[in-house]
Amino acid sequence: MNQKSTTLKHEALVDEIVTRYPPKVARKRRKHMVPVVPGTEQIIGANARSVPGIITQRGCCYAGCKGVVLGPIVDMIHIVHGPVGCSFYAWGTRRNQGKAREDGQNFLEYCFTTDMQPDNIIFGGEKKLRKAIEEAYELFNPKAMSLHATCPAGLIGDDVVGVGREMTEKLGIPIIGFACEGYKGVSQSAGHHLANNGLFERVVGRDDEDVDKFSINMLGEYNIGGDSWEIERIFEKCGINIISTISGNGSFDEIAKSHNAKLNIVQCHRSINYMAEMMEDKFGIPWLKVNVIGLKATSKSLRKIGEYFEDAELSARIEEVIAEEEAATEKVIAPIRERLQGKSAMLFTGGSRAHHYQALFKDLGMKTVVAGEEFAHRDDYEGRKVIPSIKIDADSRNITELKAEKDPKRYNPPRSEKEIARLKEEGMLSEYEGMLPDMTENTILVDDITHLEQEMMIASYEPDIVCSGIKDKYIFEKMGIPSKQLHNYDYSGPFAGYHGAANFARDIDMRVNNPAWKMIQAPWQKRPMIKAEMVLQTEKEIRA
Ligand code: SF4
Repeated sequence: MNQKSTTLKHEALVDEIVTRYPPKVARKRRKHMVPVVPGTEQIIGANARSVPGIITQRGCCYAGCKGVVLGPIVDMIHIVHGPVGCSFYAWGTRRNQGKAREDGQNFLEYCFTTDMQPDNIIFGGEKKLRKAIEEAYELFNPKAMSLHATCPAGLIGDDVVGVGREMTEKLGIPIIGFACEGYKGVSQSAGHHLANNGLFERVVGRDDEDVDKFSINMLGEYNIGGDSWEIERIFEKCGINIISTISGNGSFDEIAKSHNAKLNIVQCHRSINYMAEMMEDKFGIPWLKVNVIGLKATSKSLRKIGEYFEDAELSARIEEVIAEEEAATEKVIAPIRERLQGKSAMLFTGGSRAHHYQALFKDLGMKTVVAGEEFAHRDDYEGRKVIPSIKIDADSRNITELKAEKDPKRYNPPRSEKEIARLKEEGMLSEYEGMLPDMTENTILVDDITHLEQEMMIASYEPDIVCSGIKDKYIFEKMGIPSKQLHNYDYSGPFAGYHGAANFARDIDMRVNNPAWKMIQAPWQKRPMIKAEMVLQTEKEIRA
């Protein structure tokens, strides 16, 4: 089949899917599904409100702020101001791992919540929040805290930012309030932006320090299953010093020193690009997009960092590390690749992983046939070149766009203005080309996928594995298709870097080549199903 006819086949599948929706919903959803035509400029609908009732995989603004960005910082206490249900997301559900530094402070295992009750909703919850802060301070003596508003707290007008300010004065430690009520924005993405703003304004830049010439920050890496530790291992071997990871296994003190770095590398573009931009505007630190998921992708990223520093010794060391690590990983992967070659995967993740993991599947000889993100924006799919053309709507306006000014004393770019301009021109710095250019023919890109779309695409493509999250994992497994969670890694990991690639290969092999999946038969496949029809009529038709 030639490219034109296969693209038409995918167009037909997408058109067939939207016939199941009411016309208005069909028009909306059609914009979020793109049969990929490589080498062409394509536009996808993204960062728009999900249709109520459509079964999206998205989380809320609070989940993005507390669950994703702030939560992994080990030595801060993160208090959830809301009912205990919201706090489920405060209890290690994403498997962010962390270790205490010399001061022994690590609060990751705890769940701090004000546990709002009906009388707090009626009479206000700020008093309870103040009390919770004092109690946590007395019991644990943390160096800083974050406070997170949830929908109920926001709806009754509790001012977590104001309480944070007031308690900072009273207790003498930074207590940062985040007005990240779940209903703000259209997804977790709004919470990432708020978290970036708060960390940038209140933590970054507190502590000046002289650093080594190859000192960097790792932005947008969250240490799920120990990913950050594997990245640290590799970078250390190359002679690259990570001052701070924001925010996997993050530390308040390290983030406070992060403005001294010579380069920011960005893993998850969606959740942290705001921080990278603001740090460049204020302190002159350039940023570079990397991908440390996948054997070849990790090597490519290391080489990019070496090229940035333009240091022959560093580049030589990087090449040595690549040669050694690739050879060791290849030994593990090679026999597994023979069993996985030609198999297919579908990836539905948050804001970057469906892109990053395509590289790792490629290392294993597998093709990604459908991919999409829950909360990506158009630039995550189409590349940053589209940012000027993205229409700012009311939901995005809801989140303050901070404009960082040059710090008069500490704006200190590590390279000359001319050199940085050249590296930007060459596409090395401040650039992300997005997921679309890396997708091949016969594939579909889907934003904020729904369960109906997932089921119909699975029926059409019959993938060998679907990688997603907890909300849809067991649906796929009941369909007889193995599933691997890429939000929390299903109790496994790390999957980053070289050791991670080997771990992932083993995990995928165990799932894809497990004969048990072919034996699964759902009850409705054994017995005839009851059939029913739904008739939609207008009120006028019913009366007639
Ligand atoms: S109630 Fe609001 S803040 Fe809490 S989990 Fe639900 S959407 Fe998020």
